[in-house]
Amino acid sequence: MTRICVAVCEKTVAALESAAVRASESADVVELRVDCLGAVEDLQRVLDRLSRPVILTFRPSQQGGHRELDHEARQSFWKTAARTEWWDLEADLASEVVLATHADWSNVIVSHHDFSGVPKDLTKVYERLAATPARVLKIAVHADDIVDCIPVFQLLDRARTEGRHLIAIAMGNAGLPTRILGPSRGSFLTYAALAEERATAPGQITTQKLRSVYHVDTIDQETMICGLVGLPVMHSVSPHMHNAVFRAAGINGVYLPLEVRDVQSFFKRMVHPRTREIEWKLRGLSVTAPHKSKVLESLDWIEPDAKQIGAVNTVVVDNDKLRGFNTDASGFIEPLLKVMGSLRGLRSAVIGAGGAARAATWALLKNEANVTIFARNVEKAHALGKEFDVSYASLSDASYAGYDLVINATPLGSGESIDQAPATAEQLAGAGCVYDLVYNPIETRLLKEACKADCKTVRGLEMLVAQAKNQFELWTGQSPSSTEMYESAAAALGH
Ligand code: NAP
Repeated sequence: MTRICVAVCEKTVAALESAAVRASESADVVELRVDCLGAVEDLQRVLDRLSRPVILTFRPSQQGGHRELDHEARQSFWKTAARTEWWDLEADLASEVVLATHADWSNVIVSHHDFSGVPKDLTKVYERLAATPARVLKIAVHADDIVDCIPVFQLLDRARTEGRHLIAIAMGNAGLPTRILGPSRGSFLTYAALAEERATAPGQITTQKLRSVYHVDTIDQETMICGLVGLPVMHSVSPHMHNAVFRAAGINGVYLPLEVRDVQSFFKRMVHPRTREIEWKLRGLSVTAPHKSKVLESLDWIEPDAKQIGAVNTVVVDNDKLRGFNTDASGFIEPLLKVMGSLRGLRSAVIGAGGAARAATWALLKNEANVTIFARNVEKAHALGKEFDVSYASLSDASYAGYDLVINATPLGSGESIDQAPATAEQLAGAGCVYDLVYNPIETRLLKEACKADCKTVRGLEMLVAQAKNQFELWTGQSPSSTEMYESAAAALGH
């Protein structure tokens, strides 16, 4: 059973009451973080409004709470605290509080928090907690890298075999898999936030996301696991696309963001079936920046196209082998072919000289188009041009009149440069089609300039969907709905 606990932390009782009532509408359990309150009074008023089981928490700042609390203040709080379903007592205080209040250990969660990392003696921490009669043990540590999830999953395995209830969480973005997969691996509950900006711990996501994006209630030991390997990954819309089509196709699968710093260590310790330290039903991975080239060293087989491009964006875990593919190139070409028909002999301008420009150039040449690379750094344009035996030019003062295709493979038009474009309508006048690989926002400044110049346009989101569709097929053997993928990505991007 998946229990979601929404933790609420507010400065006033009125705000706590309103947040807790809202939390109880979607959560199975509500945690009241009493240490967030300016003054502890009228708590009963809040408790009377709640129909869900409540965890009461009064954590000192030294252990991640919101208040400086000395031993005496903590003790005196618990001596008069309301008897809720659960008291979350830090390990240093638990026995003392139970003795002084005659509380029942069956209502106690005995907890340990480490916001700085994963303690080297984590199993000793577990053993210290397990030596108490508390009904539930809780260990929350901080993950800097995905591999920090390994000891957390291992503790859950151990608690399961020892018949103990354990909540084990790795906080931080890299720890997200423990929050999503934890319940299916025996975690007594998983914590969620009422809203993203109201998270009470690093890496906490909303109940709505846990349920409607990750379908956490349906994840079990048999769930096929896929994910996006990169740094950063939390902004990605890929989980929205893949989880939506897992659901639509009736496949028991989940797709997670996996924040990975050291890709080789991740592949050795968590991915490769011959060396990994945890058992999970990992089936496939998408790979994004900065790991698309480095990942090649960790694979058993690489498709010839991906080898030529020098980048893998898709991994399939096939029995005890890891196979690498590149769906960026085909994903790039598919939407273009729909608009242009054949690409043979077309004059194309690729703007940028990074990874996407490389895959685009390779795919255009394979489809017999002519390519000129335009980049702000002429040396990089020269190097890429030399490698593919194509011409190159400087981006400044470029004119695209006479080009059948103009492709933006720079991040210009997104993030901090959202109002910018690599070319103006004047520069695009006389070009055939403009393809912007930027997909956030969906309608970029460059696409608007292209419309002014009467060019055809292709959106970056079409490539994102096409490459994701090809990945899904490699992992599942099924063809997902492009419309479903496009709509879920567009919704995640706010459209
Ligand atoms: P990358 O390897 O970092 O390369 C970025 C390129 O853009 C470099 O040549 C860089 O030049 C150039 N650049 C950066 N800022 C610039 C600026 N202000 N003016 C001119 N040139 C600039 O990145 P990438 O992986 O190729 O990705 C490029 C873009 O394509 C990103 O926005 C990415 O999201 C998008 N993309 C989309 C899809 C999709 O599915 N739609 C797939 C892949 C990539 P310097 O080397 O001089 O810095």
